[in-house]
Amino acid sequence: MKIIRVALDVPLPRVFDYLAPDSVESDIGYRVRVPFGAGSKLGVVVAVTNQSDQPVEKLKPALELLRDMPPLPRSWSELCEFCARYYQAPLGEVMSFALPPLLRRGKLPRRLKEKPGVNDPVPVLPALLSDQQIAVTAITAARGFETFLLHGVTGSGKTEVYLRAIETVLASGGQALMLVPEIALTPQLEGRVAARFPQAHVVSAHSGMGDAARARAYLDALEGRADIVLGTRLSVFMPMPRLQLIVVDEEHDGSFKQQDGIRYSARDLAIWRAHQADVPIVLGSATPSLETFHHAHSGRFRLLELPLRAVAETLPTVRVVDTRREKLQDGMSSDLFTALELRLERGEQSLVFLNRRGYAPVLACPPCGWISRCKHCAANLVVHLVDRRLRCHHCGFETMIPRACPDCGNLDLQPFGRGTQRLEETLGARFPKARILRIDRDSANTPAKWQALLAVIHNGEVDILIGTQMLAKGHDFPRLTLVGAVGADAALFAADFRAPERLFAQLMQVGGRSGRAALAGEVLIQTEYPEHPLYQALVDHDYARFARAQLAEREVAGFPPFSFQAMLRAEARDMAQSLAFLTAARAAAESLAGDFVTLYDPVPMRMARLMTLERGQLLVESYSRPALQTFLAGWMDCLYAQKMPAGLRWHIDVDPTDF
Ligand code: ADP
Ligand code: ZN
Ligand code: ZN
Repeated sequence: MKIIRVALDVPLPRVFDYLAPDSVESDIGYRVRVPFGAGSKLGVVVAVTNQSDQPVEKLKPALELLRDMPPLPRSWSELCEFCARYYQAPLGEVMSFALPPLLRRGKLPRRLKEKPGVNDPVPVLPALLSDQQIAVTAITAARGFETFLLHGVTGSGKTEVYLRAIETVLASGGQALMLVPEIALTPQLEGRVAARFPQAHVVSAHSGMGDAARARAYLDALEGRADIVLGTRLSVFMPMPRLQLIVVDEEHDGSFKQQDGIRYSARDLAIWRAHQADVPIVLGSATPSLETFHHAHSGRFRLLELPLRAVAETLPTVRVVDTRREKLQDGMSSDLFTALELRLERGEQSLVFLNRRGYAPVLACPPCGWISRCKHCAANLVVHLVDRRLRCHHCGFETMIPRACPDCGNLDLQPFGRGTQRLEETLGARFPKARILRIDRDSANTPAKWQALLAVIHNGEVDILIGTQMLAKGHDFPRLTLVGAVGADAALFAADFRAPERLFAQLMQVGGRSGRAALAGEVLIQTEYPEHPLYQALVDHDYARFARAQLAEREVAGFPPFSFQAMLRAEARDMAQSLAFLTAARAAAESLAGDFVTLYDPVPMRMARLMTLERGQLLVESYSRPALQTFLAGWMDCLYAQKMPAGLRWHIDVDPTDF
């Protein structure tokens, strides 16, 4: 009797057997509809066999085998299997996630008529700079798997290097996969790539696309029609039979790690995938993650450097402004005001960077001590003066700004601290004639609005930009010559050991927006810690020095990349229940942990309450990745076998990046 083994999207770490009399070995990789519970479910055939662990008479027959598209290739299943194993996620959930929604539902997109081939002329290419040439030669000479770190300052021509390497791949009939951090960056890059390779079929893949378009892109990749796949983290799962090169742009970016559901790192999976396909992979960044930096300097990855900007001769001048010496006006130093004035006189653009949206982070009643707290989270409600509301940035709860203090009736409630809206008010009052534009997730809350705002900036209709990290990534603003950073110090002393790394990357990225064309750029950082090594390294544009210092600290502390971590998190109605679960999980882990895995104590998470659920976490750590993996597999078996108390949810996060 033929039996098929099916991966189904259910939160259980197992596959399911069904009878399928006429199935053959080559059915592996097809989607199949099977009875499940009272209804049916769609899954992927992962094996065809003659035996089952279940009594055969108990097996149900499969309902329908969908052979209407090519089977998902073995390399795809293996990638999913690795992802499931490494991140301790059920295989069926991974496979379901790795398919676009339409295919997941058992449908196919309607075919579009073939577009006539375009005959746009191939653009004239700039001659490569010598460092670019060295990088391109190294990448294109790679025979088989090799991981490159392309470490180049912003504007050094990293994209140009990717494109040349892709050109070689296309010439030999291969497919290239390029991962980028953000949906917002894909249209711009897509334009550049399409213009560069007019004959090639370029497809995008990101969650902002419609179901049909996404499924079509997937089939184009699977059936080998797509030459270049460009997308966000989820595109790491695109099946590509002729894959010859992977590029991960801005490899340090936090968005490559998914923070819910399957908590995978697309960058790390991409490296695994390059190894599997035996092809080169290029990780590019101006501020590589410390993990990548470490591997590049220990010889595991090959380091390629672009120390110079391709167009502007010099990097922007970076200066720290010591805010202890003078009284700030609404959070702004006179140096920054003066610098802004100068740009206004010269008709150049400025950008003031403040990574906090809203008007003020909290509303308070000084006489009685009341502050605006979210009733669902351990967080303050942020003042949004534009629409007179208080908003929780964690759960989305919102309410009108109260006229009087809810506790004592005082009418004089005070917003404390400052966000982008308040900065907008301050700058508007100081420079009434300036055209000021604020860009944050409130003003640019849809891709369309974001594109419209970008167009306004590019048309030169803005004098002063105010923005959060949204503005830091990937955009070229030719008339921008000044970047001011305010409120950066908060991240220096954050509890998360990765906070300095992120701060450095953000400031370097946002600073890199200035002086990208013929005009020289200047960056001013307001701080109470002007001597801090992080700022000093920024002044010297010396990422390597900063990275080495950080790595030395991490080595002493035994943090990644010198150790490997996993976080077990639990959430329930009350903290006691969450912590009780974690304590029991810890007890169960003790006999499995051995000498190579350290178990920490369960503690409340930093955001201890989110959407009315109270959350705890338990960190486990090892100097050996295999030891941690073996331990986790055993531990998960144990946890899945337990009966969970009602209302308790847990998950495991391997290589957590958010503490
Ligand atoms: P990055 O990706 O490192 O930020 P880009 O590849 O976008 O840098 O290059 C920055 C700018 O320099 C772009 O406008 C690009 O067209 C230009 N550029 C890159 N390489 C060269 C080169 N070899 N000669 C002239 N211009 C170049
Ligand atoms: Zn909340
Ligand atoms: Zn009060």
